[in-house]
Amino acid sequence: MGRPDFPKSLKEFQARFRDEEGCRQYLAACRWPEGFRCGQCGAAGAFELPQRRLWQCKACGRQVSGTAGTVLHRTRVPLTVWFWAAYLVTTHTPGLSAVQLQRQLGVSYETAWALLHKLRRAMVNPEREPLKDRVEVRGKAAGWVRLQVVPDASARSLTGFVRRTVTPGSVILTDRWQAYAPLPDLGYHHRPRTQGPPERAGQLLPHIHRVFGNLKTWLGGTHHGVGHDHLQAYLDEFAFRFTRRRTPMAAFQTLLGLASGVHGPTTYDMLYRSESTR
Ligand SMILES: [Zn+2]
Repeated sequence: MGRPDFPKSLKEFQARFRDEEGCRQYLAACRWPEGFRCGQCGAAGAFELPQRRLWQCKACGRQVSGTAGTVLHRTRVPLTVWFWAAYLVTTHTPGLSAVQLQRQLGVSYETAWALLHKLRRAMVNPEREPLKDRVEVRGKAAGWVRLQVVPDASARSLTGFVRRTVTPGSVILTDRWQAYAPLPDLGYHHRPRTQGPPERAGQLLPHIHRVFGNLKTWLGGTHHGVGHDHLQAYLDEFAFRFTRRRTPMAAFQTLLGLASGVHGPTTYDMLYRSESTR
């Protein structure tokens, strides 16, 4: 046994997650792939308290929430709604706005907005590997992409981004902006490309040029522009989507898998704090 598999079709999804119980069992399977195991005494059996989404150890009586540490913690929204939201967000290209989600799920705009932002937060895996080999700043395309809001275009900001996301020894392709000059001293193989007229940018850094084209279309078309406060959250969603663009159903599982244990719960306060400080 390992992580539970994920539905491979819409029909399978409907059958498996048609009610709270189906979703609850899936959560438990994500949390305890080998079956319940008490974190306190190590015993294996548990009583289930479905209404409160709790499991109670048969040996020591300790109660454990099946949603602790996930985006679903303490939510009043039914799990079925969450699962549908995650399904729609991961399978709908090029992504949904809160208004679209509101219509699809028949929930309030406030609920749809909060669901979307919490799911976006779950799209960032803090344990992901740094990029390596050949990297185009600002970001990398073709395989993986990382996007981050930086306060300015200074050397401190830009090399800081590179150091956080790229393994030293990698080849870094950039334009000739002087702020990238310290990269060789930081252990990177820096290959600045001469910048000419804007229409040449696509030839110099083709991958990232295409990513930014897609990104602008997505932000402008789906979301009708985005305020600076939440820009990082949208960039995270875009990067998640781009990286998993050929495996949307696996992305759904990743979203729920990430939500199982890796992440702390997102509170309403956290949504309104600056997303760019992560
Ligand atoms: Zn116990």
